[in-house]
Amino acid sequence: MRAFPAGRDEPVTQYISTRGGMSPLGFCDILLGGLAPDGGLVVPERYPSIDAATLQAWRDLDYPTLAFELLRRFADDIPHADLRRLAAASYRAEVFGSPEVTPLRQLDHGLYLLGLSHGPTLAFKDIAMQLLGQLFEYVLERRQQFLNILGATSGDTGSSAEHAMLGKERVRVFMLSPDIGMSPFQRAQMYALQAPNVFNVAVRGVFDDCQDLVKAVSEDAQFKARYRIGAVNSINWARIAAQVVYYFKAWLALGAKPGQPVSFAVPTGNFGNVCAGHVARQMGLPIHRLIVATNENDVLHQFFRTGVYRPRLGHQVQRTSSPSMDISKASNFERLVFDLVGRDPQRLSALWRELGQRGEIDLGASGEVAAVETFGFVSGSSSHADRLRVIRQARGDWGLLLDPHTADGIKVALEERQPGEQVICLETALPAKFEATIREALGETPPRPPGYADLESRPQRYDLLEADVDALKAYIAGRAG
Ligand SMILES: *Cc1c(COP(=O)(O)O)cnc(C)c1O
Repeated sequence: MRAFPAGRDEPVTQYISTRGGMSPLGFCDILLGGLAPDGGLVVPERYPSIDAATLQAWRDLDYPTLAFELLRRFADDIPHADLRRLAAASYRAEVFGSPEVTPLRQLDHGLYLLGLSHGPTLAFKDIAMQLLGQLFEYVLERRQQFLNILGATSGDTGSSAEHAMLGKERVRVFMLSPDIGMSPFQRAQMYALQAPNVFNVAVRGVFDDCQDLVKAVSEDAQFKARYRIGAVNSINWARIAAQVVYYFKAWLALGAKPGQPVSFAVPTGNFGNVCAGHVARQMGLPIHRLIVATNENDVLHQFFRTGVYRPRLGHQVQRTSSPSMDISKASNFERLVFDLVGRDPQRLSALWRELGQRGEIDLGASGEVAAVETFGFVSGSSSHADRLRVIRQARGDWGLLLDPHTADGIKVALEERQPGEQVICLETALPAKFEATIREALGETPPRPPGYADLESRPQRYDLLEADVDALKAYIAGRAG
């Protein structure tokens, strides 16, 4: 049973592993880690619950205060005054372009767009990452520790992490990116950063080479401990918790009546964003359906359709015009499966062993896939032609420029929505990040937000490394904090 500390009326949130091999830990203890020690994902022992009266009382809260109210239920080992300050520092109008932080806009009858891409790198990942930057600094300061973050990126995650960790004295960021393949805009977003705690490493090779290097370094336990190597990848629980906030914010901004269900359409890759929607629903937010949109890499759509989860091999992943959704496996998906199997770690572990051996699992055969419907999930996928069509349609019908990922979501939302259903589509990036596709769809270049006009012509700072583990280790050893 969980403890109720003196003077508190709510139980403490403890974290466990989906595979059952980790004794319960508090939020600050899981914050800096990646996978649980048993290879599973970290999840709260149970989801905090928000009743209808509490939700009503939150009607007029601004974004930072709402974030605090939700986060304190996940991070109850941080004193309230501190958490309030961290939320306020993360969600400032100057950083996200407006006091709303995530503005909601109506597109059509029953159709809305939630703007999540007004942070420093113009993609929704900034919302979680900005908070992570504040939380990391806070916990490291409290513990008098330093952290060297090592990551690999093919675009959005790396730049978002670097911008969030800028100037954080106890954090250094070593971000590997392929020397070919990123758009000039994406390269410049990282390489033009002049912060002394950020190290851009261009690796001669492709994204998989970068990822293999990170894996090799992380598997060297001695090196990892000596240089305090950490990660900010998409399985980090704090990122999911931060993303829960805007589902609540959107429901409140819509002015929904008490208990009125609303659906969300979510462009999906690693299943982080929509996993936060699932958590919000489990916490009691009235969500009717979670509409999962994939692109041609439709591993998840196939699962929701058939109950079979079959990750792709690296070479089977297609390069598409919504590249941030080009995934081989969906790293957060294990969290959903944990809930689908009734939060039984033994069953989950058996399934993942089977996945390792056979390359697929079938929850249709066992009947466990039925819970997918109870949880409100539906799915669809889109092609390059679909995205171009939706980008044109949005321009014509709503006078709106969409990025190709958001277009994936709206395509599936339009296809799946039912009469009378209110659907909020999540905007995951601004079109300025993906100029080539917008030009192909509309024959025009999307405008850039102020401050980004000369991005590619700014001086760039990076080091070029061969795809060699020892070279990378030497590089880190010479620069680690
Ligand atoms: C990361 C990303 C996605 C996919 O989000 P997940 O949380 O991995 O499902 C979609 N669109 C954009 C623009 C992204 O950067």
